[in-house]
Amino acid sequence: MILVVDQDVTTLLEYHHSPHRKATNGKPGGGGHRTGADGQDLVLPVPDGTVVLTKGGEVLADLVGQGTTFVAAQGGRGGLGNAALASARRKAPGFALLGEPGEDRDIVLELKTVADVALVGYPSAGKSSLISVLSAAKPKIADYPFTTLVPNLGVVTAGSTVYTVADVPGLIPGASQGKGLGLEFLRHVERCEVLVHVLDCATLESERDPLTDLDTIEAELAQYGGLEDRPRIVALNKTDVPDGQDLADIIRPDLVERGYRVFDVSAVSHKGLKELSYALAGIVAEARAAKPHQEATRIVIRPKAVDDAGFTVTEEDGLYRVRGEKPERWVRQTDFSNDEAVGYLADRLARLGVEEALLKAGAREGAEVVIGPEENAVVFDWEPTMATGAEMLGRRGEDHRFDAPRPAAQRRRDRDAERDEAQKAFEDFEAF
Ligand code: GDP
Ligand code: MG
Repeated sequence: MILVVDQDVTTLLEYHHSPHRKATNGKPGGGGHRTGADGQDLVLPVPDGTVVLTKGGEVLADLVGQGTTFVAAQGGRGGLGNAALASARRKAPGFALLGEPGEDRDIVLELKTVADVALVGYPSAGKSSLISVLSAAKPKIADYPFTTLVPNLGVVTAGSTVYTVADVPGLIPGASQGKGLGLEFLRHVERCEVLVHVLDCATLESERDPLTDLDTIEAELAQYGGLEDRPRIVALNKTDVPDGQDLADIIRPDLVERGYRVFDVSAVSHKGLKELSYALAGIVAEARAAKPHQEATRIVIRPKAVDDAGFTVTEEDGLYRVRGEKPERWVRQTDFSNDEAVGYLADRLARLGVEEALLKAGAREGAEVVIGPEENAVVFDWEPTMATGAEMLGRRGEDHRFDAPRPAAQRRRDRDAERDEAQKAFEDFEAF
């Protein structure tokens, strides 16, 4: 199961609606040395900027850039037919290795838009409108709050600098406490270089004014945290409206006093857009120059634990547990109804040094040996072969050291029955 960044995909909504995904199984092999078909890769397109996390919140991958891939779940190894298991010592194996089940995994997908510039502001301040006129993006624009449910992203070219602009929809008072949708979207701006306060100078709501709007938004950003170090500039929007321009003139000195660079703009008349886009380009270019070079691609892929050759043996209440990628895989590959296959498993384990390690750990004949994790283990009655040597084992088909998993009581009964049978055979022989 592979996640691939696809520029045509802009949201994770599809995974919200159907979160369970399953790739198909491979096909069994056939006679005449035919290999079965592999299972099909399941390719899942995700938006640029998708972060892959474990349920516990550990970041597994940060997918940035068209075509970036991440293997979310690995298919199981296929089985091996008996022909493939033949060797000088085992000319005609009467068993095969089972295919393994594929990986089963819970992951969390989170979208963090990869934008250089973030537009913040009250709903209907004109953020989407500004993106649409600054860039080629065509966001949904309407006159009521919350028209924008996904952040819009636009690409802006100003001189020789190309950068992306995203808006943060749904920021309202209380957003950082989960009100509205703002919190959902605040993480989108976590990676931006600069924030633009889009202030509505022509709002029809009588209780609002641009300066208080700015304070409210800043308070929400502060609550969210992590954005303190980002530079901010102010865009006084809707100055095409006469009242809007008047209000802009009134509040500008205040904003300049507070240290903001201020731009009078209008998404409708396109006033001040060039100045704004070049100012942003300057900040973005400076920020890029200040960053170490390899930051440009920002791909952090933390590979999962590698296929290690090792294994561990631990003892708990007289029970010996073997953990390790190889022994556990070999157990999964084993058809326990086939004695020869079980013998093959025993050989593999001995060669890896599992028997030796068990002896060292204090396991003795008859000890209960468990291979695998608690919820999915296979239990064996261990009969060491160290002393006798692997060559004494004879034909694999007669090797009973590793028996199919049976409940302990059953195993005890079977062992007693075996002893009784041997005793009886001996007596019969004596009598004869
Ligand atoms: P957003 O919620 O911040 O994304 O705001 P929108 O871009 O959806 O705009 C909200 C409303 O304000 C729409 O009806 C726009 O047409 C209007 N609007 C946006 N910018 C301007 C502007 O510069 N001048 C005027 N007169 N109206 C604008
Ligand atoms: Mg909008």
